[in-house]
Amino acid sequence: MDFVLSPEQRMIYDYGAKVSQSFDHKYWLENARQNRFPEELWRQTAQDGFVGLMVDQAYGGSGLGLFEMALLIEGMSNHGLPLLMYVVGPTMAMGHINQHGTPEQKSRYLPDAAAGTTMFCFAITEPNAGSNAMRIQSVAKANGERFKLNGSKVFITGVDVCDYAVVVARTTPHDQVKRKTDGFTVFILDLKARGVDYQPINMSVVNPELQFTLYFDDVDLGPEDVLGEVDKGFNILFDLLNPERVTVAAMACGIGRFAIEKAVAYTSERVVFDGPIGAYQGVQHPLAAAKTQVELSSLMLRQAAWQFDRGEAAGAAANMAKYAGAEAGIMAVEAALQAHGGNGFTHEYGLYDLYSMARLLRTAPINRELILNYIGERVLGMPRSY
Ligand SMILES: Cc1cc2nc3c(=O)[nH]c(=O)nc-3n(C[C@H](O)[C@H](O)[C@H](O)COP(=O)(O)OP(=O)(O)OC[C@H]3O[C@@H](n4cnc5c(N)ncnc54)[C@H](O)[C@@H]3O)c2cc1C
Repeated sequence: MDFVLSPEQRMIYDYGAKVSQSFDHKYWLENARQNRFPEELWRQTAQDGFVGLMVDQAYGGSGLGLFEMALLIEGMSNHGLPLLMYVVGPTMAMGHINQHGTPEQKSRYLPDAAAGTTMFCFAITEPNAGSNAMRIQSVAKANGERFKLNGSKVFITGVDVCDYAVVVARTTPHDQVKRKTDGFTVFILDLKARGVDYQPINMSVVNPELQFTLYFDDVDLGPEDVLGEVDKGFNILFDLLNPERVTVAAMACGIGRFAIEKAVAYTSERVVFDGPIGAYQGVQHPLAAAKTQVELSSLMLRQAAWQFDRGEAAGAAANMAKYAGAEAGIMAVEAALQAHGGNGFTHEYGLYDLYSMARLLRTAPINRELILNYIGERVLGMPRSY
């Protein structure tokens, strides 16, 4: 792995600095406080060619990899512009269609999605399954060649601004499959289809994207909507796990850097005893320690992305990067918050708002414990509890 970014990669990483001159953190925060999707920023990033970063050039994208997507998300987050939508849409849903879609599906969906004129979300979580995706109960019952989808999903990001969802449903009951990962199918669902409904969930996290419960009532789906093979959805879903972990780590590292930078500026100016408070080691050390953790995590996520793009096993690095990145992000915002004193809790400085976003990433889209289970069981080879 080369530690020096290519000129193109450098440009992608620096894009956050560039776009934040037009859409700064204040813009992000104002939208986040109102739960309003920052569509102007989204449109700008699409026009600049970043929504389709992982989409093949033949379908209107840039044909780049997870490494570049992580650079983009980290760079934007470095400047206070973390967007969950970039994880669920351009990385997970669109990346998935790009990798596993038929030529017809790719031509139908990807050019518009890469141009930012249509948007995708990703729906797997269910109220009664949570972290255990094998327990999902939404059923797409086959009727000849077609399917009727019934059930619900929860915490689905951005349904209100999206046109399509990549949805996982059961197509064969669990007692009729050989392997417990069989019997699931991934569908591309038109969110305007008859029988699809959704309700926003009141969340306490300050972020611009809303979360939704999605309901399916006899939604008609055809073979043209199946992504990959019927009943073999998990085979392709496993490909999504590492990109999700890597891009969440990238976001967490960026949030951490942004908070630390704010704290450095603030504590270099703020004088309450003799000299700026930033000169006190009690203020410096938590920020220095957090900075170290952020940079370590950032290295690990680049390793994971580099392995993934080369087709190598990336699970160990991706899980460690997600764990380390989320913890480093929290540590950094916590240190920055404390360094700001009372001002950290004001609307003007907005750090407490950012804390909710950093803290979210320990739990969602994949929680710390499942990550540690992976490292314990798959990396260390320890016994499984379930
Ligand atoms: C803001 C936000 C956005 C989201 N966006 C999406 C989205 O776009 N699409 C989507 O499909 N989902 C989305 N999710 C859902 C998210 O992936 C789930 O919340 C997450 O996977 C955990 O599921 P759960 O909330 O049901 O928690 P549960 O599964 O009920 O787990 C609760 C807690 O129990 C612990 N736990 C659970 N299992 C284990 C275990 N085996 N070992 C040790 N501890 C364990 C963990 O600490 C966990 O946090 C989002 C969630 C949030 C909050």
